[in-house]
Amino acid sequence: MLFITVQVAACLLSSCAGRPADRPVTPPPDVLLVTIDTLRADRVGVYGGLPATTPNLDSLARRGVTFMDATAHAPLTAPSHASILTGQYPPRHELRDNGGFVLSPRSRTLAEMLRANGYQTAAFVASYVLNRGTGLNRGFETYGDRFDVTAPHLSLPSLQRRGPEIARDAVKWLAAARRPFFLWMHVYDPHAPYDPPPAFGSRFPGKPYEAEIATSDWAVGEVLRAVGQKSQNALVIVTADHGESLGEHGEMEHGILLYDATLHVPLIMAGPMIRAGQRVQQQVRHVDILPTVADWVRVQVPPGLDGTSLKPLIEGRTDVLTQPSYSESLFGQLHFGWSDLHAVRDGQWKFVQAPAAELYDVRADPAERSNLFDGRRDTAAKLERIIHDVNVASAKDRVASGTAVDSVTTERLKSLGYVSGRVELGPAAGADPKTQIARYVDYVEQFTRGVDALQAGREREAERVFERLVRMFPGSYEVHQYLGRTRAARGAHDDALREFEAARRLSPGSALVAFDAAKSLAAKRDFATALARVTEGLTLEPDTFYGYVTKGQVLRAAGQRPEAQAAFEKALALSPGLAIAEYELGALAEGAGDAAAAAAHYQRALASDAGMVESRAALSRVERQLPARSGR
Ligand SMILES: [Zn+2]
Repeated sequence: MLFITVQVAACLLSSCAGRPADRPVTPPPDVLLVTIDTLRADRVGVYGGLPATTPNLDSLARRGVTFMDATAHAPLTAPSHASILTGQYPPRHELRDNGGFVLSPRSRTLAEMLRANGYQTAAFVASYVLNRGTGLNRGFETYGDRFDVTAPHLSLPSLQRRGPEIARDAVKWLAAARRPFFLWMHVYDPHAPYDPPPAFGSRFPGKPYEAEIATSDWAVGEVLRAVGQKSQNALVIVTADHGESLGEHGEMEHGILLYDATLHVPLIMAGPMIRAGQRVQQQVRHVDILPTVADWVRVQVPPGLDGTSLKPLIEGRTDVLTQPSYSESLFGQLHFGWSDLHAVRDGQWKFVQAPAAELYDVRADPAERSNLFDGRRDTAAKLERIIHDVNVASAKDRVASGTAVDSVTTERLKSLGYVSGRVELGPAAGADPKTQIARYVDYVEQFTRGVDALQAGREREAERVFERLVRMFPGSYEVHQYLGRTRAARGAHDDALREFEAARRLSPGSALVAFDAAKSLAAKRDFATALARVTEGLTLEPDTFYGYVTKGQVLRAAGQRPEAQAAFEKALALSPGLAIAEYELGALAEGAGDAAAAAAHYQRALASDAGMVESRAALSRVERQLPARSGR
């Protein structure tokens, strides 16, 4: 409410007291944040990419400021977005992997900050990885995270929406938005698999990644135009959560290694208060975005930030010191039992803390090919100290706050050695991820083949793939989980439950593993244990609609119809229009003999997902029971 108060006060001063205000009162700027997933900086025209790919981003850069050396803090979607939205490094915001972690209750988001100052807030996200169970929805009055789960075997990366759909939702919201507004738009198209819509694919033959970037740019353009019509006073920020390796250092996608291929991101800001066409060469960071917005809209920043405002740099000040940028990936550790990785980059040097440490002169060697660690131990030691300090300071905060006791995330961090005073000073025991990357590429290929076979109903083939993967990667909980799913698919629920238990031991934080186990337990008619697993999953990831769908299915199988109905209704409240929940409610109504109510639910399911064959069959079945309507 700060702005409203300031404006009212200024108005009172100028009109009632007959004294001019000391400066003209301008309304607070609207804020648009756009994050394009998996977008390498060097694929954007202004950073040297093909201009035909990103005309809208390039036009934004011409009217604003482009940060040529911007860095992310994690090569993973949820942790990186958490840094953008909180101004904190991952050890402090605690959302350290996709799944299994929740944003720290002590972190304050950009949306919370702006909403407290009178902004209307909304977000539209394109990947399930950013669903509201992560806590990233905090401060957003509207949080568009609608994904459907009709596929028999939920696979997280497949739950995504296209950029043009996200743009349509964002434009629709903008039309009725009250000012000032804060809108966050997340676009996921450039993420693998690269399968652009034909209209874009045909413009970039043989370059599907670029075609997906062009799709994203088009969607962003739609929203930029709508924002321009709504507001002459909008601060626009566009960045990527991380890049894509595309084979550099042996990595195909992103998530494991900490090289600039995935940590160098585009960052463009524009608004009426920003001088057009500027380029900033100093290193800047994702954690600087929140303090910069706070500076621009003149609101107080929350305490405990790792970033600083970029406003002085944008205003052309040359005496601004470059701040070091911390980054990490716990992916190899959490998913395979390898070592964790941490890095720090100061604009010239980059140190990677790993079983075999690395040091690069990123100015002279931007591709990070020559490891200079042996010849420059003093430089490396100075940077390593920063990694240590970032982790120790965050662990101290965590221990000092009372919230640490009951936080699920804190329990997980404790088991990894990140909580107590004994923060790991060096990388955890385990293989160096860079020595495993070729095996990992093979893993992804086989895993994808196994999932495809499972989705297509070829359970035996899928089972053979996952059995082989379990032998190759016994430390991967996901392999055990999927082997369990293939066995559940052919009705071998005892075998499935053994694999789900192995997955749970390896990754106690995975809510999906708990939901999978619940389904097999329900199939065995052990409803009490099944419901205990559902509760466990919902504790790990509260407010996940998938958890409530699972709960409803278990309760329906147990014959507890009113409770099942309540669970499906809760799923619908979390994700309006959710086809699977409408379908299940239709089935409950049909079972109770209410054909009209059942038909209405099936129709709503089909309105959300026209291709849902179960709903179509069910609808024609109940329509035959309804009295013929006149005039048709
Ligand atoms: Zn991402």
